[in-house]
Amino acid sequence: MFETLSDRLTSVFTSLRGKGRLSEEDINATAREIRLALLEADVALPVVREFIARIKERARGEEVSKALNPAQQVIKIVNEELVEILGGETREIRFAKNPPTVIMLAGLQGAGKTTLAGKLARWLAAERNTPLLVAADLQRPNAVTQLQVVGERAKVPVFAPQPGNGVGDPVEVAREAVEHAKRANHNIVIVDTAGRLGVDAEMMQQAADIRDAVRPDEILFVVDAMIGQDAVNTAQAFLDGVGYDAVALTKLDGDARGGAALSIRHITGRPIMFASTGEKLEDFDLFHPDRMASRILD
Ligand code: GDP
Repeated sequence: MFETLSDRLTSVFTSLRGKGRLSEEDINATAREIRLALLEADVALPVVREFIARIKERARGEEVSKALNPAQQVIKIVNEELVEILGGETREIRFAKNPPTVIMLAGLQGAGKTTLAGKLARWLAAERNTPLLVAADLQRPNAVTQLQVVGERAKVPVFAPQPGNGVGDPVEVAREAVEHAKRANHNIVIVDTAGRLGVDAEMMQQAADIRDAVRPDEILFVVDAMIGQDAVNTAQAFLDGVGYDAVALTKLDGDARGGAALSIRHITGRPIMFASTGEKLEDFDLFHPDRMASRILD
């Protein structure tokens, strides 16, 4: 995770090490190198610009000029600004006052929604919740079966349309699932929705219809971190088309660059809530901006 970015930043700081007072030229050269590292990591340009402006401003200020070790102080500033750009605080789930809490997942096909649904369900069940998974992706022929397999592995029940009832209406399935959850005392409902390979008006409309039918407490936009800037573009399209409260970043295990993670919060104004870091159900946790920043600067 983030190895390329991490290596680049480490080498930037190596050239600062051992320096006493930092000259204007030292600060500019460091800022230039950090800028290049972020651009190579596929971080969105407005984010890079703001990040560099903040670093320069702070590096020229008293906290660095008066520091015993100015170079170390610059690293500390970069760390703090990385935490900030990654979202600052960890964003926890907001549970509904009256259960069930409805969590809806939206995103492109292949983003990792179904896998994430299982991971989230398992993670919530481990905290004494009683989640229900809902198969509202009726677009892909085997999506329902896939969710059932994931549900079995997570030991969480799956609400799916009855076989023989035709393709079914995902909006109806989601609505019925919430009613079922109330009767069967599931305190959380996780709705997996259909995605397409690209942004598509019909898919957006279906997700918006499900949203309007079940009024989720949390809509999570699920996106593959490995697609870099494309993740940011897709995030913007889903924000306009469906809207969401937070982001779940998947496939971080394969993301050497970190561009999506570093851009998405700033561009969409939505926090990253979850990090998915592998194919196994356990490869999942809340997204902790401070830990991610430390990992990058490790
Ligand atoms: P969906 O179409 O959005 O429901 O996506 P899936 O959940 O079917 O995931 C698509 C593929 O990505 C599957 O092969 C998953 O095993 C894989 N996948 C999902 N999440 C992760 C992850 O965090 N890391 C890795 N390496 N693979 C993942």
